[in-house]
Amino acid sequence: MWLSRPVDGLVKTGSFTQDARGRWYVNVQCAVRDATEPVGHLDLGIDLGLTSQIACSDGVISRRAHLTRQHATARAMAQRAHKKRRVKALQATMANIRKDWTHQATTAIARRAKLRVIGDVSSTKLIKTPFAASTYAAAWGIVRRQLPYKARRLAGICVDGHERCSRVTCADCGARSGPRGLGVRTWVCLCCGVAHERDVNAARDILAFRSGRATPSEGIPVLEGGEDVNESKSCRL
Ligand SMILES: [Zn+2]
Repeated sequence: MWLSRPVDGLVKTGSFTQDARGRWYVNVQCAVRDATEPVGHLDLGIDLGLTSQIACSDGVISRRAHLTRQHATARAMAQRAHKKRRVKALQATMANIRKDWTHQATTAIARRAKLRVIGDVSSTKLIKTPFAASTYAAAWGIVRRQLPYKARRLAGICVDGHERCSRVTCADCGARSGPRGLGVRTWVCLCCGVAHERDVNAARDILAFRSGRATPSEGIPVLEGGEDVNESKSCRL
């Protein structure tokens, strides 16, 4: 048996699985000790997106190449040539890259934060839009599964946050002065003049909202020409 790394913890039980390419794997369940003191020290808001897969409120952005798009030509050629094994190999390659990237990104977050607030972006709504392919490729579900158990292991906390209007709400003053267009990555708040990177601002806003800041519909003024604060479709991009 080939081990990519030593088995960590006390081996309890195991099972066998076979992947789409016919390769066999041994799954070993181990008992490991959780940390008793939080390893990380930050409170982090986390915004899940399509262009920047994971943006954190401390300014760290994790981006991964669009794997489906990157391998589209090779996969189409293999499909036209009826090379089933080649197609399966490409799919497995994409899945492995995605899983490896996500593990590295979520582990880095788990190690530097004691509280993680994840935006409640809905992938089920987005897969009904033209962004369906990008939504599947972003694999938010894997991030959501990994962050809580990695938090538990490092004595941290992981909770769901409220991301409504986070991309248009200034995290510094709470005014909804952000741009409505999807293509705008950076903007300057018209009220307080602070420059924002869109996804990092959204992550900071998710954290601020969780920390008890008033919601936009509870007293923060809407800019002149702004849309109805109660119209959720107008603010979530
Ligand atoms: Zn502002």
